[in-house]
Amino acid sequence: MTTFADFHRQSLADPQAFWAEQAKLIDWKTPPQQVCDWSNPPFAHWFKGGTTNLCHNAVDRHLKDRADQPALIYVSTETNEERTYTFRELHTEVQRAAAMLRGLGVNKGDRVLIYMPMIAEAAFAMLACARIGAIHSVVFGGFASVSLASRIEDASPKLIISADAGSRGGKVVEYKPLLDEAIRLSSHKPESVIMVNRGLAPMSMLAGRDHSWRGLSEKHQDAQVPCEWMDATDISYTIYTSGTTGRPKGVQRDTGGYAVALAASMKHIFCGNPGETYFSTSDIGWVVGHSYIIYGPLLAGMATIMYEGLPIRPDGGIWWSLVEKYKVTVMFSAPTAVRVLKKQDPALLKKYDLSSLRALFLAGEPLDEPTGRWIAEGLGVPIIDNYWQTESGWPILTIANGVEKKSSKFGSPGVPMYGYNVKILHESTGEELTEPGQKGVVVIEGPTPPGFMQTVWKDDARFVNTYWKSIPGKLVYSTFDWGIRDQDGYYYILGRTDDVINVAGHRLGTREIEESISSHPNVAEVAVVGVADQLKGQVAMAFVVARDASALTDDAARLKLEGAIFKLVDEQLGAVARPARVRFVTALPKTRSGKLLRRAIQAVCEGRDPGDLTTIEDPTALQQIRDLLA
Ligand code: ATP
Ligand code: MG
Repeated sequence: MTTFADFHRQSLADPQAFWAEQAKLIDWKTPPQQVCDWSNPPFAHWFKGGTTNLCHNAVDRHLKDRADQPALIYVSTETNEERTYTFRELHTEVQRAAAMLRGLGVNKGDRVLIYMPMIAEAAFAMLACARIGAIHSVVFGGFASVSLASRIEDASPKLIISADAGSRGGKVVEYKPLLDEAIRLSSHKPESVIMVNRGLAPMSMLAGRDHSWRGLSEKHQDAQVPCEWMDATDISYTIYTSGTTGRPKGVQRDTGGYAVALAASMKHIFCGNPGETYFSTSDIGWVVGHSYIIYGPLLAGMATIMYEGLPIRPDGGIWWSLVEKYKVTVMFSAPTAVRVLKKQDPALLKKYDLSSLRALFLAGEPLDEPTGRWIAEGLGVPIIDNYWQTESGWPILTIANGVEKKSSKFGSPGVPMYGYNVKILHESTGEELTEPGQKGVVVIEGPTPPGFMQTVWKDDARFVNTYWKSIPGKLVYSTFDWGIRDQDGYYYILGRTDDVINVAGHRLGTREIEESISSHPNVAEVAVVGVADQLKGQVAMAFVVARDASALTDDAARLKLEGAIFKLVDEQLGAVARPARVRFVTALPKTRSGKLLRRAIQAVCEGRDPGDLTTIEDPTALQQIRDLLA
C-alpha cells in the first residue's frame, strides 16, 4: 500500500515511469515512444509516437465485455424522455453520426462546432468527431448569438451541429434563429449545418446548407466507420473558458494525454468501476461535461447519466430519485447547484434510497463550509471538493481516495494531485512561500501533466503570455488564483488573483470575507469585491442575497442585518476585513456556469464599463447593483 505522498512524489521525481504506468489504462494502436517531451517549454508533449483514439477507448473497447450494459442514460425532465443506450447501441449511433460527418466532407483535423442542448445526439456527435479525428468545439447551449458568433469565428468549423431548441424550466428556447443570426454575424461560414429536430420549435432550413439529423441518420443506418488512429499529440477538441475574468480563452487539448489523464483520474480520484453509474449534473458545454459526463465515465466502462432539466423540477428530489433508480455510485456537481437545493425542503434528501452512492464531488468555485456541511449531513456520504480549470481538464487539487483514503477538510479542495507540481509564490518577487499560512499566487511548475491544455487554439503567443509570464523571471503556469497551504499540505483558494483586496496595506482574499459573511444564518449568497477608496486604497463591498428577505423591507431592518454581519466579520477576521457596506439584492450576477462575476460588480461599483458580459446568466442582477448605487 503506497501513501498518497509517495505516489505524488514518484509522479514528480520520475514522470516518465509514472505516466508510462498510467498509460496502460487505455488501449493504444501503437505504443508511445516517448512519455514526456519537455524540450520546448512551456509546451509539453505527452506520449509521442503513440497512436490511439478516444472513441475507441470510450466505446468500442467495452463491446467485448459489456456490449449490453448501459452506457448512456439520457433523462430529460423538460420533455419527459428517458432512454438508456447500451454500449452496443451507442456504438451504432456513433457510427451513424460519424458517417453523416464523413458524408458531408468532414475529415481528420476539421472543426465541428456543437451547439446543442443536453440530448443524446450531442454525445453521439462528440464521440463521432473523436472517432474520425475531427476537432469538436462544444459551445454551451445557453449562449445567444453574439457569444456563439465569436466562437464560430474563432473555431472556424466546417460543419455545425445543433437542434431546434433547448428547454429550461419548461420554457422552450429556440436555437435555430440564434444559430442563423450567429452565422450571419461571423465572417466564417460553415459549409454544412445538421439540425436535430426535437419537435419543440419550427425551423426554417437553408437549402444546400442545412440538413436534418434524422434524414442523414436514416441514410446511414448500418454504417460502419472504423476509428481513425490519432497521434497522441493530435488535437481532440477545443473549448472556451468560462469568461469569469475577461475574454474567454480557447483551450486546446490533445488526444493520448487526455485519455490517459481521464482514465487515471477515474481510478485514483473518482474510484469509479466498470458497470457502475456516474452522474455529473454539469453540461456538455463546460469542461466538466467533456471530462466527466462523456469521456471519463465511458473510458472507465461506466454508464453515464446525461440530464436535461433543473435540479428542482418537478421538485428538489429529482437528482436523488435518479441516484436511487440508476444506482449511481459517483456523483459530480457544483456548489452553486447545492445552494439552489439548500433553499428546498431538506426532507427531499432523505426521501430516496441513496445507499449506492459513495461520494459527491463538487467543483467550479469555492465550496463554503455551511453549504458543504449541509449537503454532507443531508446525504450522509463524503463530499469531495475538487479544484481545477478548463485548462487542466481534470482535478489539480483534491483527495485521491483510490490511492490512499483521506477525508476532505471543509473549505479546502485538498492537496496537489499526482503530476501537478503546485507551489505558492509571492506575486511580485516570485519567491516560493513555503511556510504554512503564507498567502500568495498558486502556480504550477512544468511540465504540466497529461490532459492539460496544449496551447491556446491558433495562438501559441497568447498561451505563453497569458499563462506563463505572470511571475517576473519565472516560467511557471499561473492559475490566476490566490491561496494558502496549511501545515498538512492542504490548499485553500482565497479568490482570483485580481480579486485580492488591499485594505490599508492588508492583503485579503474576497473569498475569506465571503466565507465569514456566509456563516450568518440569514445569508444565502454573497459576493465581496474591492472598490477603490481614496483613504484606504481599497475597501470591501458586500452584496448579499438573504435567505429570508421578507423582514428586509425597510432601512432599519437592512441596517440591523448589516450590523450583525459587520460584527461577525469583526469577530472572525478582524475589523480590517469589515466591508464598507453590505447591500441586499435578490440575485447576484453570475456566468452561465454559475460563477460569481466579481470583476463586473467591481467595475460597476467603480463606475467603469464592466467589459465582456457575453457569458452573464442574468443581466438584471447587475442592473440591481447599478440601481442600488445610483
Ligand atoms: P476565465 O478563465 O475565462 O476567467 P474561469 O476561470 O471561471 O473563467 P473555469 O475554467 O471554468 O473558467 O474555472 C476555473 C476556475 O474556477 C479556477 O481557476 C478557480 O478560480 C475556480 N475554481 C474551480 N474549482 C474550484 C474549487 N473547488 N474551489 C475554489 N475555486 C475553484
Ligand atoms: Mg480561469
